[in-house]
Amino acid sequence: MWRDNIREIERSREIIRIGGDVPQVGTLAFGIVDRGTNIIEVRPTSLCPLSCIYCSVNAGPKSTNRWAEFVVEPEPLLNALEDVVRFKGINDIEVHIDGMGEPGVYPYLPKLIRGIKSISGVSVVSMQTRLYMFNDDSLRELANAGLDRINLSIDSLRPELAKRLSGTSWYDVDYVKELVIKALNLGINVIASPVWLPGINDEDMVEITKWANEVGLGKGSLPPVLIQKYIPHKRGRRVNIRVMTWHEFWKRLKELEEKLNVRLTATNDELNIHKAPQLPRPFKVNDEVKAKIISRGIIKGEFIGIIQPLRGSAIYDRVITVIADARLENVLMGRQVKVQVIENEDNIYIGRLIF
Ligand code: SF4
Repeated sequence: MWRDNIREIERSREIIRIGGDVPQVGTLAFGIVDRGTNIIEVRPTSLCPLSCIYCSVNAGPKSTNRWAEFVVEPEPLLNALEDVVRFKGINDIEVHIDGMGEPGVYPYLPKLIRGIKSISGVSVVSMQTRLYMFNDDSLRELANAGLDRINLSIDSLRPELAKRLSGTSWYDVDYVKELVIKALNLGINVIASPVWLPGINDEDMVEITKWANEVGLGKGSLPPVLIQKYIPHKRGRRVNIRVMTWHEFWKRLKELEEKLNVRLTATNDELNIHKAPQLPRPFKVNDEVKAKIISRGIIKGEFIGIIQPLRGSAIYDRVITVIADARLENVLMGRQVKVQVIENEDNIYIGRLIF
């Protein structure tokens, strides 16, 4: 059924395949994100068949602001990743497969995981997923390819509420629970990462924690559950609830930990997250750059440009998201344009067209 939802998206949005001619660094929509730690985020696709009511990136068939989706060819992604890992020069890199979609629907997932695992310097391959799209065979493929950990997105164990939160009538949380056991039996570690929506799934945080602890999630120094705070995002889907402050969130987590006698927090040491060399930022805010527009961006009114000239290196080559009137699409496509950089945090470039 999830494939029907993907087909529905394919009919209504442009699906853009990213090949070796496009830099893999520079956007949140696809490719590689380096935030200056030993964790490197790899984003192979923005497609997602669910429509979670709180989705911060407004993914899935019910998205109201997307006009394109991305699928990256595995080879260029792996080539660029190898360069980035080598640049960091450390041996405990965790590559975390996630993105503005559901990586579980990426068609080349085993190949991607196998390739990542073979890069010298990578010690852990993890993936954020809701898991429902797998079965015995496809999970075994992931385990054989070298997937070390699944960060499981799961917000309720109650089937009806889980459907409501996922915005999808066929989402079956009982099947997901079965898959978790299979993944554990295959040697893949799993930790649950539910989003806490106060007033909606409070009791579910208790039930998820009890279940996760019982079935053996979170091995070694990792806790079984890492609860996420709901944060409304400007362009995401929003839920009409009272948003917890960080102070209240941590306080309630501590109370839950004490009540259930289960660890729900972890230090960076326990998660093995530490600072590591960050890729250089070749372009500064306010710089004027030349960019060749190659496609739409994810959100209507965004375009992807390749900043010119290219140096043939993932360390320096960048894409940029260019904000422009959607009606200019035919004029902009394939053209080289002048763009002013307005953001470059963590090498995620946003720019405005200069006329
Ligand atoms: S929260 Fe994740 S699974 Fe849900 S719609 Fe967004 S990207 Fe898809």
